[in-house]
Amino acid sequence: MSVPFVDLKWQMAAIKAEVEPRVQAVLSNCNFILGAEVAEFEKAFAAFCECRCAVGVASGLDAIKLALRALDIGPGDEVITAANTFIATALAVSSVGATPVLVDMDRRTFNIDPRLIEERLTPRTRAILPVHLYGQPADMDPIIEIAARRRLRVIEDAAQGHGARYRGRRVGGFGAAAAFSFYPGKNLGACGDAGVVTTNDPAVADRVATLRNYGSRVKYYHDERGENSRLDTLQATILTVKLGRLDEWNASRRRAAAWYSERLRGVGDVVTPETMNGVEHVFHLYVIRTKRRDALMQHLAERGVGCIIHYPVPIHLQKAYADRGWKKGDYPETESAAGEIMSLPMFAGIAEAQVDEVCAAIREFFDRPVTGGPRGHGG
Ligand SMILES: *Cc1c(COP(=O)(O)O)cnc(C)c1O
Repeated sequence: MSVPFVDLKWQMAAIKAEVEPRVQAVLSNCNFILGAEVAEFEKAFAAFCECRCAVGVASGLDAIKLALRALDIGPGDEVITAANTFIATALAVSSVGATPVLVDMDRRTFNIDPRLIEERLTPRTRAILPVHLYGQPADMDPIIEIAARRRLRVIEDAAQGHGARYRGRRVGGFGAAAAFSFYPGKNLGACGDAGVVTTNDPAVADRVATLRNYGSRVKYYHDERGENSRLDTLQATILTVKLGRLDEWNASRRRAAAWYSERLRGVGDVVTPETMNGVEHVFHLYVIRTKRRDALMQHLAERGVGCIIHYPVPIHLQKAYADRGWKKGDYPETESAAGEIMSLPMFAGIAEAQVDEVCAAIREFFDRPVTGGPRGHGG
């Protein structure tokens, strides 16, 4: 038996009966752009996030971009964000003409370390963009405290955090705006690209809704230079159905995480994820850490277990940012993690037997003498 890294077919089978007639209805009514289903989903998603407004857009990247634009963040501005994140977070900042300023991670959580934020602030800093990485909320209290004291906006990158809670509250309503991605593999995923901006400020929601639709509030009258970044009616229809299952699917991920952590305790030098007090982690990813990462990945691949590194090259060492002047050593925790982390199979509906199989293969690896068997590429 092999275990895939992610299995979306289980989800699709679970919603098939409910989703097919709804998709068929959209195919019949042909309201493909900003049909009523988009507003229906926005209302449901805002309620899910316990916040006032949600505006559907074309992707998670666009959600961050449009949130920044709606808050008038652009050229000349600096935005504090996590060094340890998917590159989209930084690219969104760059794409509005602002400068991403990275802050290293907290070794325990892999999230931005709030203790390192203040030393990176300058008179140009306009916002803090924390990421709820792997499904665990960033430590929002100190971030909000710094932002309030220094008059900065907070924008959450919640692309990996749908449904997560920090001190009882869902992510998505902590700052001026939040961005979610519905990339198919995310905890809530569309059947294609999609995203949403959430906010408690109706003025921000109105601005995002205008920007996503060519800067237009009334057809063919353009108040500003907007973009085409609308959430498709078809995707909204599918997302509404899936949203009804999200709490159940997140619970399935949390159960799987508990199985992993229990079975991997004391195995080799494996470090299992740490969840902060007062936080409800939704385990978009289950990330372990080991000094023998590359050899272990090779071993698991040979046994048909799908594993991925999130992410192998930190943003500050990517070619895309070569002109930014960052160098090796700038973000030591992020760099050290990049050499040791790997994400194990994790998806809603993963069976206990599948987790058992992955853990048995990991134990088998660490039970073998280090000098025996092949070491793979440089483990
Ligand atoms: C997936 C992701 C994004 C980008 O979302 P897309 O829908 O792929 O554009 C942004 N930030 C983080 C942390 C992500 O994981």
